Amino acid sequence: MNPQTAATAAYIVAALLVVMSLAGLSKHETARAGVVYGIAGIAIALVATVVLVAQSITAGAIGLLVGGFVIGGAIGLWRARVVEMTGMPELIALLHSFVGLAAVLVGWNGYLEVEAVGPAQTEVPPEMLGIHSVEVGVGVFIGAVTFTGSIVAFGKLSGRMKSRPLSLPGKNVLNLGALVAFAGLTVAFTISPSIGVIIALTAVALALGWHLVASIGGGDMPVVVSMLNSYSGWAAAASGFLLDNTLLIVTGALVGSSGAYLSYIMCQAMNRSFIAVIAGGFGVESGTTSDVEGEHHEVQADEVAELLRQASSVIITPGYGMAVAQAQYPVADLTSKLRDKGVEVRFGIHPVAGRLPGHMNVLLAEAKVPYDIVLEMDEINDDFPETSVVLVIGANDTVNPAAEEDPSSPIAGMPVLRVWEAENVVVFKRSMAVGYAGVQNPLFFKDATSMIFGDAKQRVEDIIAAL
Ligand code: NDP
Repeated sequence: MNPQTAATAAYIVAALLVVMSLAGLSKHETARAGVVYGIAGIAIALVATVVLVAQSITAGAIGLLVGGFVIGGAIGLWRARVVEMTGMPELIALLHSFVGLAAVLVGWNGYLEVEAVGPAQTEVPPEMLGIHSVEVGVGVFIGAVTFTGSIVAFGKLSGRMKSRPLSLPGKNVLNLGALVAFAGLTVAFTISPSIGVIIALTAVALALGWHLVASIGGGDMPVVVSMLNSYSGWAAAASGFLLDNTLLIVTGALVGSSGAYLSYIMCQAMNRSFIAVIAGGFGVESGTTSDVEGEHHEVQADEVAELLRQASSVIITPGYGMAVAQAQYPVADLTSKLRDKGVEVRFGIHPVAGRLPGHMNVLLAEAKVPYDIVLEMDEINDDFPETSVVLVIGANDTVNPAAEEDPSSPIAGMPVLRVWEAENVVVFKRSMAVGYAGVQNPLFFKDATSMIFGDAKQRVEDIIAAL
């Protein structure tokens, strides 16, 4: 079979496997199979591409390709094996930045091979040159926005950059100006391609990506991560057009559209305007929180054990701190002990608790907490007034009453778990520090709230011992 035909056939199989992978990933029971389909699809695509490319390049270039493959694959495998669950979001953000960078390099390569050498020296027919130039402009633009945007997201998620939104004066005008400049530069590049224009276009896009994500506050970061996922898909699709590679176009479009839809769902869950978030906090004024002051009430493990002994119903609301402490195992243990004593125990999961969509569900499933007592926020939010004790394990922003009570708060309007309506609330954390959105939490100063300080895993184990 002709190598080109074989590669096309392999690409169709790979595209189908990627579609099956996405379908599998949408459900708990089929997620594992979804991952296997995805790995198989991308492996087939990689092998087909390397075999096809190897037909027309020198032995030295093949060596480079295989070397890159082995070194890149080894680094990827090593990172994926050692990454902690809490480090996943920042790793994903970093990987998105690579897709963006690759799209910029593919765009620049397109320019160097076609526009830079002139119409006489290229294989692109003269009537297609304009389209090629637009593809270069769009590919470089989406790639560069994804690249710097993802680097900022990586910085914010890993704590290397402050999670507070950057509020430059006239930020919306800056964003709109960058878009207008992009359109103008792409037209200029299409009419008369020159290195100066493509450098300017790349610089505008790099600055826009940086500014868009820097302008978004900590609490809205979940949407940003899924949005950058979507951008990286569109960047890959743009590269697919330039490289004339159907598989890249198909998989890029799948990632782009599914990422966009996930961002939309997350915006709905957080009561945020989708347009406002993708436009870098467009129309959202940066909030100022009134400093919350008051006395907090500290308790020890034996007092919490006593409270639980008296309780008839308990709701546990886990957050990022449970992931940091890896407290899910003792929490599962405490749950089964309380259930054995006839206490009703349920979990309330906020859609953006932790640092990944579904983060808490994964941890609780890992610790074998039964699915039927793990409820979504909307399913449990009306039950707090009839609950004896709420255990807030390492959650902060997702249980912050300021979201409902303080219209000037940066998290105002975000739905939260109304834990403060319960008879007693016990908050597990190490200090009085703020949560990811950088906002103080009035819950800690309410009369019915007690604070138990220290590592959540250690404190839950102390309570089990005291019980
Ligand atoms: P937060 O990030 O608001 O707060 C976590 C709390 O855990 C902190 O107050 C911290 O307090 C405490 N903590 C940390 N380590 C420990 C430990 N070892 N033992 C006990 N406590 C600990 O958590 P939430 O889950 O409530 O909120 C998630 C936030 O992250 C939201 O703002 C959300 O928008 C954002 N986000 C979510 C993403 C997602 O997809 N789910 C992605 C990106 C951001 P202390 O330091 O005092 O211990």
